[in-house]
Amino acid sequence: MRIDIITVLPELLESPLNHSIVKRAKEKNLVEINLINLRDFTNDKYKSVDDYAFGGGAGMVMLIEPVYKAIEKLKSERDYDEIIYTSPDGEVLTQRMANQLSMKDNIIILAGHYKGIDQRVRDHLITREISIGDYVLSGGEIPAAVITDAIVRLIPGAISDEQSALSDSFQDDLLAPPVFTRPSDFMGWKVPDILLSGHAAEIDKWRHEQSIERTKKLRPELFEDE
Ligand code: SAM
Repeated sequence: MRIDIITVLPELLESPLNHSIVKRAKEKNLVEINLINLRDFTNDKYKSVDDYAFGGGAGMVMLIEPVYKAIEKLKSERDYDEIIYTSPDGEVLTQRMANQLSMKDNIIILAGHYKGIDQRVRDHLITREISIGDYVLSGGEIPAAVITDAIVRLIPGAISDEQSALSDSFQDDLLAPPVFTRPSDFMGWKVPDILLSGHAAEIDKWRHEQSIERTKKLRPELFEDE
């Protein structure tokens, strides 16, 4: 899989995409992630990629021209399954969406900035808009990193024990059960006996019950959607 992220702040994405599971997935050639600096696609002598909004109002607007050039260059090299724009008013990212995106071959993620982007980019150049939640961040880089991380960890082989991704919260519309490790007794706070019993089937049953209980208590709407 290949993920190309178009951004005005590539430095902001370098660290989050160069550690842990994403780093290992890149090393195993399961994913190639490229950071494309939007400023490389402007002829402006100050490398500016924004301008004042027509009609006035506070905040600068990302220009369509450099975005168009960046996307056209990428599209001339390969076909893309999705061209995603990060936006607080897009569809909210879910595990189901991450699962679907993890099965694609080539994705572009366009990180927005400033007050927003020229609406014509959204109308004509992108295929999908994704929000990472109902709040406003300063730019689309952190959302792009979140979307990328959520996708990459689901690519088969990215996590050594594949079950580990499959048993995460939301994979089956249930929250994950609690987990414990050594010591089994920490100052009198004990691990549930069942987990020390060695009875695999009983442990699975307990975990499933815990998942149902936690989902009903913490996220009842997920349980009702099931
Ligand atoms: N004026 C815009 C609005 O009210 O929707 C917010 C602009 S925000 C300061 C700058 C950029 O950050 C957005 O264009 C978008 O690309 C990104 N962004 C901010 N919050 C986001 C979120 N919750 N999910 C995805 N992208 C977000």
